[in-house]
Amino acid sequence: MSSLEADRGRGPGAAPEDPERLGLVLVICAPSGTGKSTLVRRLVEEFPRFAFSVSCTTRAPRGQERDGVDYHFLSKDDFLSMRDKGEFAEWAEVHGNYYGTPLAPLRKELDQGRDVLFDIDVQGAMQLKRSFSDGLYVFLLPPSRAELERRLRGRGTDAEEAIRRRLAGAAKEMHAATEFDHWIVNDDLDRAYEELRAVYLAGRSKPVFLPGLLRGILQSFEEEG
Ligand code: ADP
Ligand code: 5GP
Repeated sequence: MSSLEADRGRGPGAAPEDPERLGLVLVICAPSGTGKSTLVRRLVEEFPRFAFSVSCTTRAPRGQERDGVDYHFLSKDDFLSMRDKGEFAEWAEVHGNYYGTPLAPLRKELDQGRDVLFDIDVQGAMQLKRSFSDGLYVFLLPPSRAELERRLRGRGTDAEEAIRRRLAGAAKEMHAATEFDHWIVNDDLDRAYEELRAVYLAGRSKPVFLPGLLRGILQSFEEEG
């Protein structure tokens, strides 16, 4: 998902500008091939004001990846120094490389009322939940192993070895699903999207993200009453 570049402007589905609204953390995890990118793309098309958390990593850039856009590519020493200074909201070692979410830009986006989407693994998601417990932690499930395999093959981006590795990893990742707040089975794409949309809209209505709303409405009662 880090390659997905959201339109950061205001589109037809954008939320009204509300300086008193605080942004929310939206974490969506899924075994590779479940359909996360497809669903996230749809969500961002409808709600273009999402920000994407750009992670730091010690792995080398791949293909067209750009520093500061897909990831902040760091040396191991620099990564560990940031970690030791507490500059990550969460961090994890994945396939022998370090990955972490820088805290300062995340806080800035949230304070400005931007909802933030993440592409992090389940260990990272559970760490983030400890500090950002009002966020939305969604786990997408494939309907079955056979369907996941069909999608991985149908996507045509992975070699046979990678497909087998992803299928083996899927079962392990799904054990972590019990830690998440919402489960969505991606069988029918339209239905799964409606569920994701409903979870997101319900999450945004939590009073913690709308500190000035009630005060403003009550004030109108006093003025007009
Ligand atoms: P992920 O980001 O989770 O790895 P993708 O979004 O790349 O997964 O989806 C994997 C493949 O499955 C893609 O070819 C996509 O078009 C297809 N796909 C996604 N959701 C569904 C669905 N509900 N039914 C059938 N195919 C789907
Ligand atoms: P990749 O190297 O293929 O881009 O990512 C490998 C894995 O690392 C993916 O599962 C991705 O979700 C995860 N990942 C990417 N950034 C972060 C991060 O900041 N924190 C954590 N915990 N995982 C991350």
